[in-house]
Amino acid sequence: MSATTQLFINGQWVNPRKGENFATIDPDSEKEIARIAAATREDVDLAVQAARNAFDNGGWPELSGKARAGYLRRIASLIREKQQMLAELEVRDNGKPLPEALWDIGDTAYCFDFYADLAEKLDNQREQAVALTDDRFSSLARKEPIGVCGAIIPWNFPMLMAAWKVAPALAAGCTVVLKPSEVTPLTALQLADIAHQAELPAGVLNVITGLGHEAGSALTEHPDVDKLAFTGSVPTGRKIMQVAATEIKNVSLELGGKSAFILFDDSDIEKAVEWILFGIFWNKGEVCSATSRVLVQRNLYQPLMKRLVEEAEKIKIGNGMDEGVLLGPLVNEAQYKKVQSAIAQGIEQGATLLSGGKRPQGHDKGYYLQPTIFTEMTEESELWREEIFGPVVCVRAFDEEAEAIASANRSRFGLAAAVMSEDLERAERVARKLRAGIVWINCSQPTFTEAPWGGYKQSGIGRELGEWGLNNYLETKQITRYDSDEPWGWYLK
Ligand code: NAD
Repeated sequence: MSATTQLFINGQWVNPRKGENFATIDPDSEKEIARIAAATREDVDLAVQAARNAFDNGGWPELSGKARAGYLRRIASLIREKQQMLAELEVRDNGKPLPEALWDIGDTAYCFDFYADLAEKLDNQREQAVALTDDRFSSLARKEPIGVCGAIIPWNFPMLMAAWKVAPALAAGCTVVLKPSEVTPLTALQLADIAHQAELPAGVLNVITGLGHEAGSALTEHPDVDKLAFTGSVPTGRKIMQVAATEIKNVSLELGGKSAFILFDDSDIEKAVEWILFGIFWNKGEVCSATSRVLVQRNLYQPLMKRLVEEAEKIKIGNGMDEGVLLGPLVNEAQYKKVQSAIAQGIEQGATLLSGGKRPQGHDKGYYLQPTIFTEMTEESELWREEIFGPVVCVRAFDEEAEAIASANRSRFGLAAAVMSEDLERAERVARKLRAGIVWINCSQPTFTEAPWGGYKQSGIGRELGEWGLNNYLETKQITRYDSDEPWGWYLK
């Protein structure tokens, strides 16, 4: 890797205008991996101009969906060819275990292929006749790309989150300026390189690394950006929405969560343990939809706690590259301190720490934390209500179905939820009452590119993935024609 990376603007690698850079850190060794170019307002402006020009004059939106699909498929196949290298970069930059990073990269490639298919379908579905009651007119609704998109993404699934925005945006015919998180910028730079190798026309995808308050806010404020697609925290989402309000930009937001898992006492306890542990400890719990609030029916409460603790204590912690590791280091020092402070506050406020909560033995370096299980917290406590974004699960008991639903819904978030019961009628009934954008029955977390993803309430606005993800990047235009030879008759009587 070069001493300092560059920005990818208008199909070329360029140095940042002001020559600024920042470090990206390996969360296992706490050492610097690379110096990363830090874009400032001037660079963002150049990137947006390149995207604007590619959209207005470069012919990208006018290409057929089939032609755009060709580029997307080439990108997908290059990602597959480089899957191992990209996954290893993700492990170094983010800390996640290698098998999970390999899933991410596999899903990233599939996401480009999936939207290639939708780009092709768009050729036949772009225009749709609209039936009018006045037969002197004919009308159609036409889908057109929104324009230049600013995509701002977080650090927990770096390359996959980029794909969730870039693939549908390019499929729709938009051009993109992507700003990855400053915490995990490495694979977004690889995506730029791959786009270059796939001979994507200049300016269609620009990748600018940089800090949120500098490059991120410059991108958000830029008047030539037509759409902002953001994934990240609620406070940043709020800022982006406020800035977007000035120019009335189209915004989609994928924000935080505090997802409930309702477990009825007719469930198989071993299946419950598996889905809860996976739900909260995969990707180190740094997952927007993580199973962070478990509501268990009282009969199952004691046996569940016993089994959860037994199994959580067996989880192998370590460097994501090591065989059998299920829990890597948290992403960086700031996140490590944030999670530690949430744990300390939980204890202070009287919750019972059943397991974990400390730096694991044998890991004196790196942002390592034991899998952590809390119980006996109040519903009002921050532990129960606020997103921790780490390997910390909170468990409370309930008696009645209605009480569990009310408790699950008593949250300012509404990203995901899960329900487990052998009684499928009950599970389906509860699923329909949960105020969340994603509800899993008898499982938690599996995510499919084909199905809509997004939150209710403060968890966001809009949906990604599936056909919904494509619609995020499309405008609908009405074209109405007057077919009659009769005068309209407003003044000609
Ligand atoms: P964050 O909000 O701190 O940062 C996200 C991105 O926004 C980064 O690229 C950052 O540089 C940029 N940014 C920061 N300040 C900005 C500003 N003023 N203007 C423009 N951009 C700015 O979030 P994070 O810590 O990277 O990610 C964790 C959060 O993301 C969690 O809350 C998590 O729940 C959420 N998340 C949600 C989903 C989802 O699909 N709903 C998926 C993954 C993560």
